[in-house]
Amino acid sequence: RSLAKRFSIGTCFSAEGRRTVHAVDNVSLTVRRGETVGLVGESGCGKSTLARCLVRLYDITDGKLLFEGDDITAKSLSELRPLRRRLQMVFQDPSASLNPRRRVGDLVAEPLRIHGKLSSKEVTARVAELFDLVGLLPDHVMRYPHEFSGGQRQRVGIARAIALNPDLVVLDEPVSALDVSVQAQIVNLLADLQEKLKLTYIFIAHDLSVVRQVSTRIAVMYLGSIVEEGPAEDVFATPAHPYSQALISAVPVVETTPTGARKRIILTGDVPSPLKPPSGCRFHPRCPIAVDRCRSERPELKEYSPGRKVACHFPTLT
Ligand code: SF4
Ligand code: MG
Repeated sequence: RSLAKRFSIGTCFSAEGRRTVHAVDNVSLTVRRGETVGLVGESGCGKSTLARCLVRLYDITDGKLLFEGDDITAKSLSELRPLRRRLQMVFQDPSASLNPRRRVGDLVAEPLRIHGKLSSKEVTARVAELFDLVGLLPDHVMRYPHEFSGGQRQRVGIARAIALNPDLVVLDEPVSALDVSVQAQIVNLLADLQEKLKLTYIFIAHDLSVVRQVSTRIAVMYLGSIVEEGPAEDVFATPAHPYSQALISAVPVVETTPTGARKRIILTGDVPSPLKPPSGCRFHPRCPIAVDRCRSERPELKEYSPGRKVACHFPTLT
């Protein structure tokens, strides 16, 4: 499996209103073709900002974004146009990303009209094919977004995102706004599409049980940085960073493990403001095992065991 994308982002800013938020810092993430990287962390940790930097919806002020070895950090929007179709995004709230005044058939056709070189007959055929792929009915094309349930609207959002056969789809909390019963259907749909269309996903979620089902690898984010990364099963079985341990301890255990139920670790305090991050290890004000060194020295994301990285001075050894 060849290396598809490497993102190495020094600093990524999002301009929200007039405020510039230093939201992602010193993040390096490699995504290989065909895999799903689950990006997890509490809300406000910079997951969505990172996602928007990856598809260049936000500017990267310092650092690098490599796509198949090509540095795309400084490319202008017109230079990015051919690439745009290969990097797509699915948003949390499909109603906010779908124009309510347009029929969903048109919404799905839009990227095909903008980027594709298809005749209008071919566009219609492709839209029908996409509706079938995402499990919508042919006559749904004439409807408006409000005539659908949340799950169906997300199917429309997914159809739009895959319309141009992208290589990488960034899924930003794609099921968080949906009823639990619908979540599983959408997760299954995403898994089917990945297999059929050979898609690569970055799956962002705060719900770890969802991420666990779909991810090949996991990257845990805290306050704008990745604190742990590795194969999903390993990170879930033996989280090494105190923050990952707390997050994972909160996931209900379905199967009985030989070691018995995990003890739940409750984190106190809120996520500090990314505008004024704590000194040293950014997690130290909430870390149950912090010592003086943690307050002054920032731990680097270092190899912990083959394929795994942890940013902690005292990772739990297994
Ligand atoms: Fe906790 Fe220190 Fe590790 Fe940070 S470096 S996670 S404060 S033990
Ligand atoms: Mg978010």
